[in-house]
Amino acid sequence: MHHMTLAEIARGLADKKFSSEELTQVLLARIAQLDPQLNSFISLTQELALSQAKAADDRRANGETGALLGAPIAHKDLFCTQGIRTSCGSKMLDNFKAPYDATVVARLAAAGTVTLGKTNMDEFAMGSANESSYYGAVKNPWNLEHVPGGSSGGSAAAVAARLLPAATATDTGGSIRQPAAFTNLTGLKPTYGRVSRWGMIAYASSLDQGGPLARTAEDCAILLQGMAGFDPNDSTSIDEPVPDYSASLNGSLQGLRIGVPKEYFSAGLDPRIAELVHNSVKELEKLGAVIKEISLPNMQHAIPAYYVIAPAEASSNLSRFDGVRFGYRCENPENLIDLYKRSRGEGFGAEVQRRIMVGAYALSAGYYDAYYLKAQKIRRLVKNDFMAAFNEVDIILGPTTPNPAWKLGAKNSDPVAEYLEDVYTITANLAGLPGLSMPAGFVDGLPVGVQLLAPYFQEGRLLNVAHQYQLNTDWHTRTPTGF
Ligand code: GLN
Repeated sequence: MHHMTLAEIARGLADKKFSSEELTQVLLARIAQLDPQLNSFISLTQELALSQAKAADDRRANGETGALLGAPIAHKDLFCTQGIRTSCGSKMLDNFKAPYDATVVARLAAAGTVTLGKTNMDEFAMGSANESSYYGAVKNPWNLEHVPGGSSGGSAAAVAARLLPAATATDTGGSIRQPAAFTNLTGLKPTYGRVSRWGMIAYASSLDQGGPLARTAEDCAILLQGMAGFDPNDSTSIDEPVPDYSASLNGSLQGLRIGVPKEYFSAGLDPRIAELVHNSVKELEKLGAVIKEISLPNMQHAIPAYYVIAPAEASSNLSRFDGVRFGYRCENPENLIDLYKRSRGEGFGAEVQRRIMVGAYALSAGYYDAYYLKAQKIRRLVKNDFMAAFNEVDIILGPTTPNPAWKLGAKNSDPVAEYLEDVYTITANLAGLPGLSMPAGFVDGLPVGVQLLAPYFQEGRLLNVAHQYQLNTDWHTRTPTGF
């Protein structure tokens, strides 16, 4: 039962082959048995899951239908869940029970999803390895000595290990696509503004975007359908109609213009990954796509710009965690300053403190023009590169990551080495574009992802290309040994 995709579950439930309650019991037992090896959950919500499953079964018995009605999922632990711990992977929020549901959580619950738990993540979504969580590192089910990617590593490891079919995640600089690549999943970062950020604990507000992590493009379409749409509670949410993503999967790729940026194939890319990317290009050519070399000349400036803008926004967003209103408070403060200092010093981990300091520095009066303003100018150049490229091509294709998943601890003493691994993903966040990572092969037994980028609001096109690719390849069906 645990091998089923969301689409298969929907069919099985509709055909009364099993109930949502039965499936939920199976998956909860599987999580109890296998998750100790992975550490992919921060909280389990068994009682909620079983009551939601029963309610979904009742709704089906009363004639209701829907692809998500009775579907078990989990939420990354930065989506607020009413009455349930919402920790953001931090000691700061270890005791925080959200007073309301995030829009994404509420919409998915209304569609009938069953919440199995809250997944582990890098603290405040800062990281590319899922090692900065207060609740410990997450392990990659493909090799337990390797990282699953971050910051949505808990969602990725759990779905890859078949503990559940799909999960929510968020992507500020790659945190859906990069863990998808590292664990052989399909992950979609939507256009900025497509999915509501209301109730999603903010890291860098102009970059953060929620999206689905699943095993197939077909399942990403199903989950995104339940997440996307205008939300008056989020002032950056966009009032555009949500297309039927599942209906977009079957379009022909005949004549589709795919751009492959020459800058992607620089010295930093593992040549074995480059080869797999070329193989995926050949596969898509067979399906009728036309390949064109393009250029994204400002790509080299994207990492430095991102690692100014994201920390700047983080330093502002995280100022609310002061030990006064909510979250961790230090013991026996001597005065107000001592309360602030020790609550934040003890409540935040090292990477979060580093980002707050970098951000506060970049925003300070003497340095704002030199760093923050400059980074914003680069951001515009990165966007302009994409706009020019999309005049010539329909989608852009390349590697999701320059290397496969590294060993746990390998980059702990060198944060910049970890930042450099985001080179292919962060440009989409700077420009606000949608991006998808799909399984495209293996290197040393570790999964490799190919990234597709599209113009604004063309999530359907990304899902279409990935689905057609998945109909003709079987990388996405491979299962990690032991799971
Ligand atoms: N690795 C990037 C960072 O640490 C992106 C993380 C994310 O997308 N949440 O900021």
